[in-house]
Amino acid sequence: MEKIEICLASNNAHKIVELQQMLGDTFLIKTMKDIGCEDDIEEYGTTFEQNSRIKADYIFDKFGVNVISDDSGLEVEAIDNRPGVYSARYAGEPTNHKANIKKLLQELDGTDNRKAKFRAVITLILNGEHHIFEGEISGKILTEQRGTDGFGYDPVFIPDGYETTFAEMPAELKNQISHRANAVNQLLAYLKTKK
Ligand code: IMP
Repeated sequence: MEKIEICLASNNAHKIVELQQMLGDTFLIKTMKDIGCEDDIEEYGTTFEQNSRIKADYIFDKFGVNVISDDSGLEVEAIDNRPGVYSARYAGEPTNHKANIKKLLQELDGTDNRKAKFRAVITLILNGEHHIFEGEISGKILTEQRGTDGFGYDPVFIPDGYETTFAEMPAELKNQISHRANAVNQLLAYLKTKK
């Protein structure tokens, strides 16, 4: 099968690596830089769905290419599902993962309810048609960081049914079970129905 050329509407190097691992067999992936886009796309939406679509539409409207975008984040039950869409810039801009984790752990200090979930909404624009895929994974937030792999809140998130944080487990495992993997698997299943 010939691979479908597609642009990933993200400047997040970690996300690009993860999506490349998950989608590389099906798609010939181009980064924004590869298609000549150096822009920082403003995410002015208030939901994952909106921001995912904003990023995909920006690339499609300006460059007319097939595009995949992922908007994702962490929802923590005890603090009204924050940081949510503001996960990347929780402790302010520019994005600082260490500061974000510090702020989250301070907010949860003394809280017994550590339930959280990661959510990802992927927008695929293929031949001009929009498709939306959603994935999530439930788990809990530790009181301190464990592990050095991954990115973002990975060192403080343990998925349900596991003993290790996302930052301690092999990338291959995270990429099989994560919110992003769940959304991507739906996307791949959809593509199979089109064959
Ligand atoms: P986005 O690039 O605007 O979608 O921001 C996503 C933010 O959510 C990231 O900067 C991280 O803070 C957080 N996030 C999303 N997915 C993950 C993940 O797989 N692990 C850890 N943090 C994540």
